[in-house]
Amino acid sequence: MRLFNFDMENNKSVIYNLSLDDLLPFNTDFSLLYRLIKAFPGIKINIFIPIQGRSYRGMRNILDYPAWCEKVQKLPKKNIEFGLHGWFHHLNDSKSTPEFANLSQKEAAQLLKRCENALERAEIPFSRGFRPPGWIMSKGSYEACKELEYVYIADNASCYPYSEYEDIRIPRIFVNRDLAYERIIRPFYQSALYFPDRAKYCFQYGHFTSKAKNNFNESNLRKIVRIIKSLPQVDFRFLSELGAEMRLRGWSILPTQIREMQCLQSE
Ligand SMILES: [Zn+2]
Repeated sequence: MRLFNFDMENNKSVIYNLSLDDLLPFNTDFSLLYRLIKAFPGIKINIFIPIQGRSYRGMRNILDYPAWCEKVQKLPKKNIEFGLHGWFHHLNDSKSTPEFANLSQKEAAQLLKRCENALERAEIPFSRGFRPPGWIMSKGSYEACKELEYVYIADNASCYPYSEYEDIRIPRIFVNRDLAYERIIRPFYQSALYFPDRAKYCFQYGHFTSKAKNNFNESNLRKIVRIIKSLPQVDFRFLSELGAEMRLRGWSILPTQIREMQCLQSE
């Protein structure tokens, strides 16, 4: 396997991934996904599915929508990879706490397994990758991901207190481009430590829900196309592939690297 096969001299190749959160029956525009795939037949998109979502609380979950599940199953596997994104996404408390914000390892492992089981029953294939709902997760949740041998966590560097990260070894992949803004976001959020030159990767992210500014709509689709076309040469990757490569290299994040990242942020 070739790892991060950049042409360091000429900067010809850019690793690209698009990740989209909150795929649910009421907010899926499959036609936009197919248009993007038609424009870039080699594109690799990671989609994170909550099983029920907070808007559905007390109502139905994805298993109650078999026709929708069938459409999800039919999305081309060479282009789409699914990952986990919680059950309810947020708790139904006064602060609307993200679902994995305070869980112990045992609680988080149970919830992840429950979500996996629901995806299996829905016959939606997934890789063991996790994006914490609300981009927040407890230390126990990290430990649960490690226990269950998750391939990667797609969070951001602010999700977890650095000082307590020392004993956790799991690839974390940070996005660096918001769909709505196009610009490269501040170094704090970049995978600069995994990828020696941040100009050489582009991880765009957004949502399916129209409540988010960076939702996957017509105008943001055009932005995605514009950005990919602007890259000199694209190397599309799934997050699971990047996670596996990072693991292979022992590139799980180290405490010293976390400290470097803090320095980057304060620059
Ligand atoms: Zn979400």
